[in-house]
Amino acid sequence: MKLEIKNFSKTYSNGVAAAKNINLTIHKGMFGLLGQNGAGKSTLMRTIATLQDADSGSIFFNDIDILKNPSALRKVLGYLPQEFGVYPNVSAQELLLHIADMRGIIKQSERKNQVDALLQRVNLYEVRKKNLDSYSGGMKQRFGIAQALLANPELIIVDEPTAGLDPMERNRFYNLLAELGENAVVILSTHIVEDVSTLCNDMAIIGKGEVLLTGKPSEIEISLSGKVWEKKINISEFESYKTKYKVISNRFHLGKMMVTVVANNLPDSAFYQKQPSLEDAYFNLLYTQE
Ligand code: ADP
Repeated sequence: MKLEIKNFSKTYSNGVAAAKNINLTIHKGMFGLLGQNGAGKSTLMRTIATLQDADSGSIFFNDIDILKNPSALRKVLGYLPQEFGVYPNVSAQELLLHIADMRGIIKQSERKNQVDALLQRVNLYEVRKKNLDSYSGGMKQRFGIAQALLANPELIIVDEPTAGLDPMERNRFYNLLAELGENAVVILSTHIVEDVSTLCNDMAIIGKGEVLLTGKPSEIEISLSGKVWEKKINISEFESYKTKYKVISNRFHLGKMMVTVVANNLPDSAFYQKQPSLEDAYFNLLYTQE
């Protein structure tokens, strides 16, 4: 099972080059596509999901040429978009039955069985008869997963899934997503580093329409080993630290400021070395890009 993206480029009619010669090979499991807002993630996701065209390049899922034969891909695709937009005034069960019908699950009993099993799996069975527009954000996300999983997709695309979820809902959502990677290629597009570090065994960072880095989260972290330093400073000192050092991030801590700096050697004796996190590696890359 393999998704192969070769030399994919896309420039919108307003002149924005949202994808510039993207090359990625993605295998079974959870793959994280990490990038800031505007990096080009949705452009890539929508193209793989056959919702928009490429200017050039090719995308293959196994033997399926996605750009030439979108209808073949749709049969094996599960897509969870950022927002469904309008939540219709129908129940979760009704809508899932309808979607199952459209995806070609023809036998009524099979449809009912699959839909009920999915509702159980995403923990919405008890509320299956309630209208979708009465669902909370987390419930809507879980409904989204259920619809993406109908008809056992082999390729699952999840675009910015955890924005707007509270920590409990996010946790539940993580657990559900983690199960998916066992039998499918799952691409998780997000600007939240934690989504990737928690869930993904492989990843790419994209920025300004380009792939900046690919690898396993652990390998990407190790690349900064011995080079990440932290120090608690007075807030008023921050500007001077920014000019003196490569400050990749900062956070407030008990009325002081904790700065994270990347340097080959100990910047000054009050800094202490820190185990690099994926977030450090990501911020370091963004710093270098700016
Ligand atoms: P992301 O999902 O990483 O936030 P997008 O793929 O949505 O990134 O956007 C990448 C760039 O392309 C942005 O500059 C965005 O404004 C632009 N863009 C996205 N969709 C369109 C569109 N339909 N028409 C014109 N520009 C677009």
